[in-house]
Amino acid sequence: MNVPLIPSLISLVIPAFNEEENLPFLVERLRAVMEPLGMYEILIIDDGSTDQTKAVLRRLSQAYDEVRFISFSRNFGHQVALRAGYDHARGECAVSLDADLQHPPELIPTLLKKWREGFDVVYTVRTPDPHLPWTKRVTSRNFYKFLRAASDLELEDGAADFRLLDRKVLNVLKQFKENDLFLRGMISWMGFRQCRIEYEPAARFAGTTKYSFKKMLQLAMMGITSFSSKPLYLSVAMGFAMSLFASLIGLEVLYEYFFTNATVSGWTTLVVLTVFIGGVQFIVIGIIGVYLGKTFVEVKRRPAYIIGDTSEIEEVITWQAPTPDIYSSPLM
Ligand code: UDP
Ligand code: MG
Repeated sequence: MNVPLIPSLISLVIPAFNEEENLPFLVERLRAVMEPLGMYEILIIDDGSTDQTKAVLRRLSQAYDEVRFISFSRNFGHQVALRAGYDHARGECAVSLDADLQHPPELIPTLLKKWREGFDVVYTVRTPDPHLPWTKRVTSRNFYKFLRAASDLELEDGAADFRLLDRKVLNVLKQFKENDLFLRGMISWMGFRQCRIEYEPAARFAGTTKYSFKKMLQLAMMGITSFSSKPLYLSVAMGFAMSLFASLIGLEVLYEYFFTNATVSGWTTLVVLTVFIGGVQFIVIGIIGVYLGKTFVEVKRRPAYIIGDTSEIEEVITWQAPTPDIYSSPLM
């Protein structure tokens, strides 16, 4: 995929899934913030929305030269949409933010200032948000706690996908061939000069959250299993603990057999043990299965996403000058 780099351009990368009500406002807010800051593009990734998001994007991209969009053939998920955005950004740096205006566009100048000071990654951490329902706050806090415990990553509470990446980092990210991307972890893992900024999240402007509990759980699982093999070691440790326990019971059973007359009473022990060991085996096999499944998906080398439509395709038709990039990129 050959996306041209445009010198001194700033890319804004925005994944959007069913965000028809938010996008017009978002684009206006972004334009107001970006106007004094130089050349920029607003690249919106429609993650297979089922509402009018694509039509809204088409209209916006016709109205404003800075607005481009990519539209997936179906819903691939937020992380994949973000990655497609990073892949197709043409700027010297890319700022990613959510479409629902929870990531205040007014913070972008601060991110850019840090970037100009020489940081390659400027990431943001949200201060605890009073607008969020307590369920979301609790799940989010525990998500990071669990992730740190279960993997080798040092991720801060409330790390958001609102960040600036230098071109250098974007190019490295493009080299990652794995489909199962957990970007927050990936970027923290990559190193470079990183800078942290705190922000106060706003309430979602319109619509409801697109991150269902299931999607959050998937994200947590992905974060853990793509960053660590700790769960595999855990399963080994569990196996050892179980064997030790079983041999103790074994000793006890032998003792009863040789020195008492109560061997029939061992039936209970036997049943308990069988069930318990069976359970542990299922856990261990399950953990191994998850990793095996991942290997299976990765060896297939499928494209991480499929682009169904872009803001450029229409222009190509009217100019009758096909740009090979657009056609080759989804299949790359
Ligand atoms: N999003 C997406 N694909 C999905 C789910 C969400 O592109 O499958 C986008 C969504 O449009 C938004 C961002 O990811 O721009 C964050 O989602 P949301 O605001 O619903 O999550 P929350 O802020 O509630 O965690
Ligand atoms: Mg949101």
